[in-house]
Amino acid sequence: MGTTDTTLVLVELDDLNNISAELGPSSMEVFLSEFEFRVQQFAREHDEIVKIPPNKLCVLLRDVSDSQQIELAAAKLVRLFEEPITVLDQEFKPTARAAFIPPGCDATTTKMQLRIAESGLREARAKKLPYVVRTKLSREYANDDISRLREIEQAFERGEFVMYFQPQAHAAFRNVTGAEALMRWHSPQRGVLAPAEFIPYAERSALIRPFTWFALKSAISHCARWPNPLTVAVNVPPCLLQDEELNQVVQDALAIFDLPPARLILEITENSMIENPQKTLATLGRLRDNGVKIAIDDFGTGYSSFAYFRDLQVDELKVDRSFVSEMLTRPRDRDIVKAVIDLAHNFSLQVVAEGVEDEETAVELTALGCDILQGYLIGRPKPVDQFEAEI
Ligand code: C2E
Ligand code: CA
Ligand code: CA
Repeated sequence: MGTTDTTLVLVELDDLNNISAELGPSSMEVFLSEFEFRVQQFAREHDEIVKIPPNKLCVLLRDVSDSQQIELAAAKLVRLFEEPITVLDQEFKPTARAAFIPPGCDATTTKMQLRIAESGLREARAKKLPYVVRTKLSREYANDDISRLREIEQAFERGEFVMYFQPQAHAAFRNVTGAEALMRWHSPQRGVLAPAEFIPYAERSALIRPFTWFALKSAISHCARWPNPLTVAVNVPPCLLQDEELNQVVQDALAIFDLPPARLILEITENSMIENPQKTLATLGRLRDNGVKIAIDDFGTGYSSFAYFRDLQVDELKVDRSFVSEMLTRPRDRDIVKAVIDLAHNFSLQVVAEGVEDEETAVELTALGCDILQGYLIGRPKPVDQFEAEI
């Protein structure tokens, strides 16, 4: 690349999380293929398209270099996304944004061009523009990740992060059996912020370690005060499953607060095994040998594999909210939930359903044999004193 007549275009589909929550993963694939189809219509025969998962496509527009050609191409792209996308009789108006990087910009390599394009997309997002044309790395938008991270780091040092607890209940008896620990940022300026505002930044930096160690220690210390046998579940990101220190932090905290290991559940995602499965298996094996429980979170949304059941002993499956939330109106979702429950029980695993918001869903889940319910019906995530007042 870097040729004198090629313009790089990075196109992204916004709002993917909301759409995914509404549609569920299988329909999401249809949605994404429609996105690809539209970008293919935008490209001409000799242009090249490269996928950048989960929601971006990169197009190399050959013989496009001057600003007039770029404006024409941009207009075509905007027009292509004016039509709503129909999936399962529902219409969605996708928000697509693009960054155009003409030849002869500051970048000498494709990687550099992509960095400029990414900062262009951030600017487009921030200014709510359908597209931007960039020749330079805009300092403000290249650095906003870094300044955000610094802000998060300083807030962490000031102690602005706290653990909230969302109750989980026995499906049939509805007594509280434990809680999932979920982090919140009490920002004096912006109020209570959800993990989406800070966990993705932390995960891209070394900050995820102190964050996770904090979550573990805090969750363990609180749980130790709750009546036996209430459990506490903590989310552990994939990168830390290869970290030697994880086991040490867990063992130390369990010992200091005198919590039986079986009352701690570590929630890992299906994607945890992609990178360095040997090391991940070794870490998890050690934790489990010491009595800690392992749950697979968001089950059904990731790179699911039966290897889990062969190589890794887990104790619990959490059925993802995207299957549960509309299982009463979408028979296929209900079938998936049923299949997951049956699969889990065949392997003697406990099943937790996430995102249970109404009584009818709870009744259906119970009839299907689900063990534990979690969701707004049972209770929202709340500060520890509120949670303790209710148990
Ligand atoms: P998750 O592990 O899937 O957590 C469940 C999320 O679903 C929580 O969002 C919870 O508030 C939300 N939820 C629970 N019940 C319902 C319901 O009935 N309806 C709906 N619509 N939503 C429900 P939250 O707290 O915003 O957390 C989002 C994600 O952030 C979590 O997803 C988890 O992946 C991550 N996260 C949260 N705390 C931590 C943490 O301490 N460490 C790490 N590494 N990740 C965390
Ligand atoms: Ca979780
Ligand atoms: Ca989950």
